Amino acid sequence: MTLVKQRLVIVGNGMAGARAAEEILKRAPDRFDIAMFGAEPYGNYNRILLSNVLNGSQPATEIFMNPLAW
Ligand SMILES: Cc1cc2nc3c(=O)[nH]c(=O)nc-3n(C[C@H](O)[C@H](O)[C@H](O)COP(=O)(O)OP(=O)(O)OC[C@H]3O[C@@H](n4cnc5c(N)ncnc54)[C@H](O)[C@@H]3O)c2cc1C
Repeated sequence: MTLVKQRLVIVGNGMAGARAAEEILKRAPDRFDIAMFGAEPYGNYNRILLSNVLNGSQPATEIFMNPLAW
């Protein structure tokens, strides 16, 4: 039997959107064909750690959660 993947669209590649996608992929990795939309031209990052980047205590590269290709 061939399982047809359902199409799932997530609007917002931020904390909530990324976390939702991560959890869905963990629970049912083959169930959905997922497309994510976000306004940023790069992968999602941990907004909570943005303060560290802005005050110079942490490089921006360390707060990314998933690359754009993800
Ligand atoms: C500097 C800073 C420090 C913070 N520190 C803390 C902290 O210590 N503790 C804490 O609990 N919270 C903190 N927060 C708040 C926390 O980051 C937010 O509550 C959280 O990011 C909200 O998640 P979200 O997914 O709803 O929104 P976001 O993470 O902002 O994601 C929204 C996504 O939607 C996309 N989007 C928006 N409009 C459109 C559109 N029209 N089309 C397509 N995509 C769109 C954006 O591009 C983005 O990818 C901090 C926030 C900032 C900015």
